[in-house]
Amino acid sequence: MTENFEATSMRDLLCGSVDLTVTGERVSVCGWVAKRREHGEHLAFLDLRDHSGVVQAVVDGSVDVRSEYVLRITGTVSLRPEGTVNERLSTGEVELTDCEVEVLSAAEPPPFQIDERSDVDEQVRLKFRYIDVRRDKMQRNLRLRAKVNATLRRAMERQGFCEVETPLLWAPTPEGAREFVVPSRLHPGEFYVLPQSPQIAKQLLMVGGFDRYFQIARCLRDEDLRADRQFEFTQLDVEASFVTQDDIFAFVSEAVLDAAEAATGERPGPISTMTWADALDRYGTDKPDLRFAMDLHDLSSVFSTTQVKAFTAPTVKGLRVPGGAEFTRSRLDALTDQAKGLGAKGLAWFRVTNDGLDSPLARFLSAEEAAAIRGLDDANVGDLILVVADEYVAACKVLGALRLSIGAPPVSEGPHHYVWITEFPLFEGVDENGDLVSAHHPFTMPHLDDLDLIDSDPLQVRSQSYDLVLNGWELGSGSVRIHRADIQSRIFSALGISDEEAQSRFGFLLGAFKYGAPPHAGFAVGIDRLVAIFAGEDNIREVIAFPKTQSGTDLMSGAPKDITARQIRDLRLTFAPKV
Ligand code: ASP
Repeated sequence: MTENFEATSMRDLLCGSVDLTVTGERVSVCGWVAKRREHGEHLAFLDLRDHSGVVQAVVDGSVDVRSEYVLRITGTVSLRPEGTVNERLSTGEVELTDCEVEVLSAAEPPPFQIDERSDVDEQVRLKFRYIDVRRDKMQRNLRLRAKVNATLRRAMERQGFCEVETPLLWAPTPEGAREFVVPSRLHPGEFYVLPQSPQIAKQLLMVGGFDRYFQIARCLRDEDLRADRQFEFTQLDVEASFVTQDDIFAFVSEAVLDAAEAATGERPGPISTMTWADALDRYGTDKPDLRFAMDLHDLSSVFSTTQVKAFTAPTVKGLRVPGGAEFTRSRLDALTDQAKGLGAKGLAWFRVTNDGLDSPLARFLSAEEAAAIRGLDDANVGDLILVVADEYVAACKVLGALRLSIGAPPVSEGPHHYVWITEFPLFEGVDENGDLVSAHHPFTMPHLDDLDLIDSDPLQVRSQSYDLVLNGWELGSGSVRIHRADIQSRIFSALGISDEEAQSRFGFLLGAFKYGAPPHAGFAVGIDRLVAIFAGEDNIREVIAFPKTQSGTDLMSGAPKDITARQIRDLRLTFAPKV
């Protein structure tokens, strides 16, 4: 036998490794009883399962073992009698005979069947998660996750990155989400904040001379949960000095493509880039799903002098839906409702038929307008053209959302399509006090060509920030950081952050920058989302060992829970009555 990492003091092999190569040997295996079948009065067949597979043991029918009992079986590996070979199992040509059975643990009947076929309610799965993860799918998903983590770690180390752990109990971080806070016992009335990301810590490490840092970091944000969002998540967090955006793309691409190769067996090609402005214009979103075509097309110039009231707007955009002429009236009504729900005044649709355009609006169009719609994106007979007229961003976003609801397969299906989105706007809008709001975080470097616009036309300022998008999911974000005090104070003042506030929130970072801050940039890749897509799952809960429900509870532990009177006293907490 080659070196055997499966052996322990209690077993020789994993169940799934008992095959023809060890025929005739006497081996011990340990695991859970997957199935028991009686064979006459004196014999029983037991399928013993561990994470590697199942092996059949022929045992004395009088041993009292039931499903999910934990056993150690020592037996002789024997060929199965002719006609009883099970081709579907790696162990299907052999069985254990002359068995000694040792019960390591008795077990109550499990709350649900531990096989792939049984369709179990998620609430029950989460309450008994330790049983749920015995199932093949969860074993596969969590082991895939471990493999992705190990591959990412190796890729970063190979590229000269040093792993540094940063604190969980800390001060506020600047990502802009609601934070989880932890009361301090030693400093009553004061709180730690759990990190939304290691953002400030990693920038401090750059000042500290760690010019290539990474961490597989837990991050916490108190935000509403969704299919792609949990309170706690894990990211591959990266920061490097003396680099540009392109260096970061190279480092992160190498790690992500390695992980893709390890997970799927195929290495995707190099990842292309697209500016934010292009993504909005062509796909109506900053997270374009490029697995399918259906680009948005601009019709504004054709409609600039239109007589049709529905189309008098700064922007008119069209989308060709291949084969969409057969959509029923109720489907078209549903799309119109969706467009209105997104704030559009309406949705115009045109079926392309042999006799021209079929639509309630067709007869109002000028010949030139009809020709532009008929020819949109080289439309064919049988296609449908959807048109939205609105302000520019609204028109793009509405049509982009319709594009997804009509064309997008589930996130985990089909080819994996990565794209870097670059040049996000520096500010995403204005808050209720009239102050600008950062699109990423306040340490993001503006595009140096746009510095003059910060005062005159701030919403046009591009930033040196970027996202990585996979199949329409945002896999991560990053930016080149501001390392110059003069630019940082201009940005703080644009964001309405006073000197005092900047000092109180980020003083320790700003202070550190006075002692020699190298130019630096970074990124963070969401590992939960990455693994979910690799695993073919549309919900990240399926790749997390102990996730929270949509309403933020842990059904197994009962968290969040009351704490003891003693803890409340120690922390000097007082509560408003529950309402
Ligand atoms: N801290 C950012 C985030 O968590 C990532 C980065 O800018 O490096 O999204």
